Amino acid sequence: MSAIDVRVGTRDAAFVMDMKRRLVQMRRELANESVSEARELATPATERGEDTTPSQHPADVASDLEAREFVLTRRLIDARELQDVDEALARIDAGTYGVCIDCGRPVPAERLEVRPQAARDVECLRRARSGQRGR
Ligand SMILES: [Zn+2]
Repeated sequence: MSAIDVRVGTRDAAFVMDMKRRLVQMRRELANESVSEARELATPATERGEDTTPSQHPADVASDLEAREFVLTRRLIDARELQDVDEALARIDAGTYGVCIDCGRPVPAERLEVRPQAARDVECLRRARSGQRGR
């Protein structure tokens, strides 16, 4: 163990810059996706060049609703992801990036490599999730 490992909250600057680059890229992709999906949702099917026969059959109506619901769910997930990414970028600016927001211990670098926007270590994430109902 070197002295650097003990300094909680201090991350290798090159590592943080690398994560920041990835977060900025993720943010751009998420923002683009939300915009294009919102646009698609606002456009009637007839203008999208899809099946132009009116949805008279109840099954068709149901599948159309399901498709819209799917897109809406995707957008909610994206919005959530976007928020996580934004918060991670804010933590980089605040100098607290890579530290668990619950217990203050460093989040393992391997975890951040997989999920740069991770705000908690795995134990605290599990605790936070088990505290939520229904999901
Ligand atoms: Zn923690």
